[in-house]
Amino acid sequence: MSDWYRDFANSGFGTTITKQLGLPRPAQLRRYEPGQPLLPGPAVVGSAGEGRLRDEVTGLLRDAGVTVVSPVAADGSTDGERLAAVLLDATGLTGPADLAAAHDFLAPALKRLRPSGRVLVLADPPTGTSSPAQAAARQALEGLVRSLAKELRSGSTANLVHVPLGAEGSLASPLRFFLSGRSAYVDGQVLAVTAAELPSAADAEQPLAGKVAVVTGAARGIGAAIARVLARDGAHVVAVDVPAAGEQLAQVANEVGGTAVALDITGDDAGPRLAAQLVARHGGVDVVVHNAGITRDKLLVNMDAARWNSVMAVNLQAQLDLTQALLATDGALKPDARVVCVSSQSGIAGNRGQTNYAASKAGVIGMVRSWAPEFAERGATINAVAPGFIVTEMTAKMPLGTREVGSRLNSLQQGGLPVDVAETIAWLAQPGSAGVNGQVVRVCGQSLLGA
Ligand code: NAD
Repeated sequence: MSDWYRDFANSGFGTTITKQLGLPRPAQLRRYEPGQPLLPGPAVVGSAGEGRLRDEVTGLLRDAGVTVVSPVAADGSTDGERLAAVLLDATGLTGPADLAAAHDFLAPALKRLRPSGRVLVLADPPTGTSSPAQAAARQALEGLVRSLAKELRSGSTANLVHVPLGAEGSLASPLRFFLSGRSAYVDGQVLAVTAAELPSAADAEQPLAGKVAVVTGAARGIGAAIARVLARDGAHVVAVDVPAAGEQLAQVANEVGGTAVALDITGDDAGPRLAAQLVARHGGVDVVVHNAGITRDKLLVNMDAARWNSVMAVNLQAQLDLTQALLATDGALKPDARVVCVSSQSGIAGNRGQTNYAASKAGVIGMVRSWAPEFAERGATINAVAPGFIVTEMTAKMPLGTREVGSRLNSLQQGGLPVDVAETIAWLAQPGSAGVNGQVVRVCGQSLLGA
């Protein structure tokens, strides 16, 4: 589905018109393609505070084939190429005065940032200190990064990763994600990593090779995109959808060389049946993506019980029941499993006419946070992904005005694509993402709705 406004705004005539009228000019985002280098140009790494991660980050970048250049002079002048990424290691801040160094490093470097550039700030979590001054400085970075993400143009993003002492080993996977085209529509986010036992490095092109992944709601839309991306990354995909979607489901499963399972996930014995099938046919499952979801919108005052119950059943209860069944069935869920639950921006910000949907999607976040410690103990992870405005068949049917406004109300000034949600899920599914647990990752282009 093409973005007619973006194409127009970037045409010769459209550029003139949008400039004169002060209209947004959404950029073509850099998205991941297999074989692509991590970054299309050099990166610069600077520090504010102690900067305990700086050498490690520089090493990780060099290992990934990135050229790391010296910090940019205060006047923005440099002989070199424009920067594809600007990384600030802000670990070890002692108080607000240390933040001046963040400004002094970032300001000139940003003048040299290429389109679809990446700004990534690494910091200690604000909760990990008893010093108010230190907590203030750490929390201040959140305001800085969220504002910077709103200032950047041309498809560039800014994100913040909290790395507590001892969790340095968990940094490599988020670092690669945020710098790569996989995170094209993830902007203005704060992610926390924790210490975790990491497997030996996986093949960068096929990080899910040998893994079995089950995806619910895989017959179309975002679920079909998730099936394609997981299969591209090496997984055998078990694609689940309602029997009525059987034909489309079979097409997707065939396309990705996977297995189709026609199943209503709200059926009484759906969880135990699927769990037993996964054990018998696949020897268990490594990756579970709870993607199936429905909307039945109405103002609460007019909402009948059927609308409320059906949305809660598919979007929340089925995720709980299926996960419980997998945990309860011997051999169904691999010890180092990755469970990814699709939530929604509506579950964070709320949405008029969607009390049922937003309640179900907020419930998913509560469920993920509650299960995360138990999952960590077995070496597994459970995370939520909250999409914002994603261009699907569903949103294509919205009236033009509503669709245009809805899709532009974010820092990237465009709707995301199903593949953007799928790339984020595939990253969370990677063995190397063991240190990302209990997180909610919004794939919303930094939507102006919600925190
Ligand atoms: P979609 O309607 O295109 O696809 C959902 C799929 O789930 C369908 O194939 C449907 O048959 C399947 N499904 C529904 N009930 C089921 C059941 N009981 N058992 C098995 N399968 C069932 O929706 P989509 O836009 O691709 O959304 C996918 C997920 O992303 C949903 O959870 C949705 O809430 C969430 N989401 C979407 C957007 C967006 O902008 N499209 C935004 C935020 C969140």
